[in-house]
Amino acid sequence: MYHDLLRDASFWSFLLSVDEDLARIARQNACPCGGRLHRANYPRNPRGGPADLPGEYRYRFSFCCDRDGCRKRMTPPSVRFLGRKVYLGAVVVLVAAMRQGPSPRRVSELSRLFDADRRTIARWQVFWREHFPQTPFWKVARARFVPVVDVTTLPRSLLEAFVHRHDDREGWRNLLRFLSPITTAGGLTVEVSR
Ligand SMILES: [Zn+2]
Repeated sequence: MYHDLLRDASFWSFLLSVDEDLARIARQNACPCGGRLHRANYPRNPRGGPADLPGEYRYRFSFCCDRDGCRKRMTPPSVRFLGRKVYLGAVVVLVAAMRQGPSPRRVSELSRLFDADRRTIARWQVFWREHFPQTPFWKVARARFVPVVDVTTLPRSLLEAFVHRHDDREGWRNLLRFLSPITTAGGLTVEVSR
């Protein structure tokens, strides 16, 4: 289910272009103090993607105000990274979703496919089942879903709501864009652990 697409470097190039757009839009606004935003990316070393992941995945786009005394950070939402998690956002969604449903994939298989150990996969399941439903984001966003999404089916129910075919890039973009508010500071009041 869906995992071939996540082995494809062009899928990650596509998500990169979405993040570049989000960064460009965010940068059009000045800092609230009136200062200009300068690029000040965060270094990242994401896991779970293909070996030929584009080089731009070595950092997350971020900006910093250029005024002395302010220097406030502004980090745009992202469809690539999920908060501070080391693994790529789409991987954190997909692996947890593949553990659910009528024929859940074995942990050993997922571990091999996505280079994630058993404990990491277990943490992602706890994140979706226990932490994510408590976020202010989800408490508002869940109203968009008719019928109501049962939290015990997260994130599989979200994946199925957005992604309709095995090669549905637009669906993935829409899903990750939907989740992107939780990727910014202030988007999560619960810890997004690694
Ligand atoms: Zn400023």
